[in-house]
Amino acid sequence: MTIKPILIHPDPRLKKLAAPVADLSDELRQLADDMLETMYDAPGIGLAAPQIGQLTRLIVMDCVKEEGAAPQPTVMFNPEVLAASDELNTYEEGCLSIPEQFADVTRPAEVTVRWIDRDGAEQTRDFGGLWATCVQHEIDHLDGKLFIDYLKPLKRQLITRKMVKLKRERARL
Ligand SMILES: [Zn+2]
Repeated sequence: MTIKPILIHPDPRLKKLAAPVADLSDELRQLADDMLETMYDAPGIGLAAPQIGQLTRLIVMDCVKEEGAAPQPTVMFNPEVLAASDELNTYEEGCLSIPEQFADVTRPAEVTVRWIDRDGAEQTRDFGGLWATCVQHEIDHLDGKLFIDYLKPLKRQLITRKMVKLKRERARL
């Protein structure tokens, strides 16, 4: 497995629509495994393929945070939100493509998601709590949408300017 470099906002590849997976291949499974390793290494609880420059509808997640609890690496090809609750939940979100920036985002508290798993089987499951927030955040990435797109323009511009500065600093190293 390989740890991949994560793209930092602003990057045109983070604003693009990702293409659905037609056939599951060993190459795509390898990509999913690399993404899981990259996510755990970061560390993060979710990662979408566009964040490593692959415009494919693939996300990985593991929202188990309790110390000592068994990890739940989750791979989703072509994930789709089938239903969302009227009830909303606000979480302070962050993103591996927007390091060290956090902001409250309000989303449906529960969602029903359908996807193709790592073995090519179709799955449908209800998510709540942090998993619900995370899966919506990651699916947004597949549509070129970032959590800062939910913020007021001024706040979004402030964060974007910080990221431009961060990228400039990193490029100099
Ligand atoms: Zn993100």
